[in-house]
Amino acid sequence: MWRRICVAVTAICVLVAVATPAEAKTVDCARVKCIALTFDDGPSPHTVKLLDTLKKNRLKVTFFLVGREVQKRPAVARRMRREGHEIANHTFDHARLTELPDQKIFDQLDKTSKAIRKATGVRPKMMRPPFGATDERVESVAGFAGVPVILWTDSSRDWELRDKKAIAKKVLRLARRDGVVLLHDIVPGTVAAMPLILSTLKKRGYHVVTVSEVLRNRLPDAGERFPSR
Ligand SMILES: [Zn+2]
Repeated sequence: MWRRICVAVTAICVLVAVATPAEAKTVDCARVKCIALTFDDGPSPHTVKLLDTLKKNRLKVTFFLVGREVQKRPAVARRMRREGHEIANHTFDHARLTELPDQKIFDQLDKTSKAIRKATGVRPKMMRPPFGATDERVESVAGFAGVPVILWTDSSRDWELRDKKAIAKKVLRLARRDGVVLLHDIVPGTVAAMPLILSTLKKRGYHVVTVSEVLRNRLPDAGERFPSR
């Protein structure tokens, strides 16, 4: 529509042409078939290869980062941000939060958010508890830390499968519209499986997106959980 208006009004045309490219990349998951791929536990030595694959396919995903690993590889976290991926909190040292006292849970989240902010300039908007270990107490501390608790709708169980063909087969079997898929960029087989997974999802009409996009940019409130109980 804009282009038609542009034909008539040359001056506006120039402005719209400059403003359009970034906006045009936003995916409206209410209209098209979306799936969110999420990668936990990085940045790892395998993450750069994954970022290369995503860049080649012009896709954005969500990374749940471990604070300790961010401190080891800040440049990789920075690259994620630069290339438009969503960055979230996965605790400082992959702690099982349900076994920690409240203050330690808070420290795990706070220390990680600070490490991510230092590396990327951005404060994470969500967290995922390692092992999916959450309860009402963990969620209440997450609320205090200002982040919602984001789990997944489908797990690839890639850490058990290891083999790239098995991982690709599993992910493609569980793919569904508006799914949030759990993967790990510390698993080499997952990174190796991505080209096949991405090309097959594309053939099936999926748009690979971030968690925020699949949730229509309406994240749960701080301390709330996705999927809800
Ligand atoms: Zn994890």
